[in-house]
Amino acid sequence: MYINGAWVDARKSFASHNPANGEVLGHVPDGNEIDARLAIAAAAKASPEWAASTAYLRSNLLHRAWQIMMERKEELARLMTEEQGKPLKASRNEVVYGADFLQWFSEEAKRVYGAVIPAPRAEQRFITLRQPVGVVAAITPWNYPISMLTRKMAPALAAGCTIVLKPAEATPLCAMAVFKVFHDAGFPPGVVNLVTASDPVPVGQEMTANPLVRKITFTGSTRVGKMIAASAAAQVKRVSMELGGHAPFILCPDADPVHAAKGAVLIKGLNTGQACISPNRFLVHRPLVPAFVTELTARTAKLKAGSGLDESVSVGPLINSMALDKVHRQVEDALSKGAKLECGGHRLTEHGLDKGCFYAPTVLSGVTRDMLIWHEETFGPIAPVIAYDDEAEILPLANDTAYGLAAYVYTPTLARAMRLFEGLHFGIIGINDINPTAVAAPFGGMQESGLGREGGAEGISEYLETKLGGFSLV
Ligand code: NAD
Repeated sequence: MYINGAWVDARKSFASHNPANGEVLGHVPDGNEIDARLAIAAAAKASPEWAASTAYLRSNLLHRAWQIMMERKEELARLMTEEQGKPLKASRNEVVYGADFLQWFSEEAKRVYGAVIPAPRAEQRFITLRQPVGVVAAITPWNYPISMLTRKMAPALAAGCTIVLKPAEATPLCAMAVFKVFHDAGFPPGVVNLVTASDPVPVGQEMTANPLVRKITFTGSTRVGKMIAASAAAQVKRVSMELGGHAPFILCPDADPVHAAKGAVLIKGLNTGQACISPNRFLVHRPLVPAFVTELTARTAKLKAGSGLDESVSVGPLINSMALDKVHRQVEDALSKGAKLECGGHRLTEHGLDKGCFYAPTVLSGVTRDMLIWHEETFGPIAPVIAYDDEAEILPLANDTAYGLAAYVYTPTLARAMRLFEGLHFGIIGINDINPTAVAAPFGGMQESGLGREGGAEGISEYLETKLGGFSLV
């Protein structure tokens, strides 16, 4: 663990495994609530001086961290592929995306402006300051084990907050590598703190119960996010929540089904379907279904699965056997209720893949609303195709979910695109675009997909309070 500027051990340790072959990659400290308390105390002690430091100092340190992360791109990418499973090319992209947040918020640090507001009385003045919220506790998932850390840490640090982070138990080595970057960049002791743990509950409880923590930022499942938000409410702590998704991928009646299928394979394949913005429901105008399914199936069946260290592989393993079971349960449920299997539909075991958690990329057609896959986030390489007959059905079908993170629309018609952009209840809409994310753009969900936005101009606001000064001149 990294507490108060030093690497420290816990009484116990736990192993991190390679999901492609089950091998142990290393052992890391198994922290608990006492370690979390120490880390929070260190962050609280460092907080006043860090909050009072100049934006230029914080900016320079973040810029240095960006440089170091970019210098270590290849070693970080290899570690990520080994620990999380995504193919090396995708890991390299993630390291750059993760580093982008350091660079972007090193710039935003210098642009935290207050305001002078016209007051109602002649002898009165209103001025606002934007000040750091204080100690931030962050909890992150395994699926993007580097960028999900920097997407929180960079804006928090730029704003003048200190931070304690608990990474996912499946990817602690990536988190340690990120903290080595911060250490080497020269952040003062206590400003960034890391507590690794095999059991998230004691650390999470300390984070929500400890009054020194003023803000919780969480990325993970909606189930856990709700519990954390509920606990944080007891002390009215600020919360940001980046939660699950159930993205529709819509082919309007005038879409090109072959072009859309190319995009569908790329975005569905992203991180083997283990992305919060992964499309989970392909809504296709019935006359386009045959051409779309033929192209989607042909391209999906060609994808090569294996260890992400093999540069020819585009499908990595799922994170663990529970994920395999969940995906297979959804496929079996759909097939038992009348869906048609176009390809895949089984675990991959040949050529040594049985040592890892590999599932064949799968296309299901004839999917209907009574199937589990219609309602549950899949987090695996399954593409379920649902046919609709009338354009008026699109919005009710697409919005038929408690989630609201990402949605995708294919149409060459501007008016259609605009109507759907306005009518979809999702925070991120890709219009003929399968990659509507970047550090400069706000990322986040509506409804049960979350609260708040990360990245973009909004990202730093999540870590700032607005304070009003009313001055009487008489
Ligand atoms: P998860 O909710 O199981 O775990 C996320 C984090 O919460 C981990 O660090 C875990 O250790 C911790 N955690 C689990 N139970 C906890 C508890 N009781 N108290 C405190 N901490 C606890 O989710 P996951 O399986 O790691 O990640 C996948 C989920 O994350 C998916 O639902 C995905 O959609 C979501 N996600 C969302 C975004 C986004 O930006 N919206 C990004 C990536 C992943």
